[in-house]
Parts: sequence; structure tokens; C-alpha cells
Amino acid sequence: MCFFKKVKNSGGYKMGKAYKRVLLKLSGEAIAGEKGFGIDPKVVNKLTNQIAKAKKQDVEIAIVVGGGNIWRGKTGEALGMERATADSMGMLATVMNSLALQDSLEQKGVDTRVLTSVEMKAMAEPYIRRRAIRHLEKGRVVIFAAGIGNPFFSTDTTAALRAKEIDADVILMGKNAVDGVYSADPKLVKSAKKFDDLTHMEIINRGLAVMDSTAISFCMDNNLPIIVFSIDEEDNIIRVINGEKMGTSIKK
Ligand code: UDP
Repeated sequence: MCFFKKVKNSGGYKMGKAYKRVLLKLSGEAIAGEKGFGIDPKVVNKLTNQIAKAKKQDVEIAIVVGGGNIWRGKTGEALGMERATADSMGMLATVMNSLALQDSLEQKGVDTRVLTSVEMKAMAEPYIRRRAIRHLEKGRVVIFAAGIGNPFFSTDTTAALRAKEIDADVILMGKNAVDGVYSADPKLVKSAKKFDDLTHMEIINRGLAVMDSTAISFCMDNNLPIIVFSIDEEDNIIRVINGEKMGTSIKK
């Protein structure tokens, strides 16, 4: 039974009641150290502290983490590799990141399951939609690894597809070093304007680099709301899960 309803109060939503089920998308960079490469357990620890705290508020949490901190298919292609093979390596990178998150969450007593789109049963469960939903209902954090299991796609598309499949209320896109969607790169263009609200169509028409076009089109066609927010500030994940207005909200 669903006990969670969107309940607006003056500042946004009442604590802990904003969403029943969320999909948190983290880029691989979110768990890299200062060099922007690899996995830094201290950074992972900071992130999972927030996720563990958020979990206490009875919201169901699924996570998709990228792999760009280890490998991107496009990088391999640029170096002369076949794209499909390079993308397979990228998908494997997401498995490493997912296992790092799982390890850290479980050390904090948060039951977590990694579900992979490409079978590797010795390390994680295969992705089965109904099983993912069952885990969420039982209060486990579910991490979707290995992308959608196909080359030429991204983990943004994975986040969109899985969010729809599990009927998540929203995709929460946690970003490093930026706190929402801007009209231009705020690091390069001082006059860049931050948007509070956008539609999916505006993102596409303005060519804003929020997610790749496959992912944003999927979200538009399937009426999936997205919130783009910064994970740099401590507790932002908890605040956004609580429905506090922050970053940029994208909906129809
Ligand atoms: N990837 C893929 N299919 C998918 C998801 C990911 O082939 O469904 C590969 C692709 O090579 C991508 C890499 O995995 O570059 C890492 O994912 P992504 O670039 O989305 O990670 P992020 O930028 O979020 O860290």
C-alpha cells in the first residue's frame, strides 16, 4: 500500500513524504577522487552516508551509476577500438562502481542488491524487472549495473528506462560541480542563466546538455520528471528526496 503522497507545504514538501520510489542517477565522476579518475572510497563513503540517511525515511531507492570515471566507449573508439567492444568495457566499469556503492552501503547496514543487465551471477543478480520491484518493496536499495546491456547507449538512458520499468516517481540526477541546468556552461560563460523549471522539449530544442538525446526523448515520451541537482553539498540527496525545491525541475 502506498503511504506517500505529494503533500505541498510552504517550502516545498513535508519531510519524507515527497516520493514513494525514486531513481537516483550518479555519474561515474561522482565517486572518483580529486583526479576525476577511478574510485575513491572516501568519496563513496560520503555519498552512501547520504543514501543511508535518506533510506531511513522510508523511500524506495534505486540507483544507476555511470562508468565514466573508469572508461567510456567513445574514448576507446577515438583510440581506434571498435565502438561496441569499447562500450562493453564501459558497461563493465559501471559494474565496478555499482559494487563499490553496494559494499559501502552494506557496511552501513543498508540492504543492497546489484542487478546486472549482462549476466555475471557470481557477482550480482541478473536484472529481472519484477525482482527489482520486489527488492524495492522489501526496503532494499537496488543498483542497476551494466547499463541496459547494449552498446551505443548511455547510463542516462539506462536511468530513464529503469525508472519507467519500476514506475519511479522521478529521476534524481545528481551532478558534480554544477547545481542545475544552465543556458550555457557556467564555468565558461559568466552570464549563463540557471533554469528553475524546464520542459523536456525545451531541453531538446535548446540543445541543453542535461542527458543525451535518446534519454531525454524517452523521458519526454514517457512523462518522466527529472530533477537535476548538485551532490556537492552534504545532505542534498536527502533534501531532494524530501521534496525540497532545488536545482532544475524538468517535466511536461
Ligand atoms: N554503456 C553502454 N551501454 C549502456 C550504458 C553504458 O555501452 O547501456 C557504456 C558506454 O560506453 C558508456 C560507458 O558505458 O560510455 C559508461 O557509461 P556513461 O558514459 O553513461 O557513464 P557516466 O558518464 O554517467 O559516468
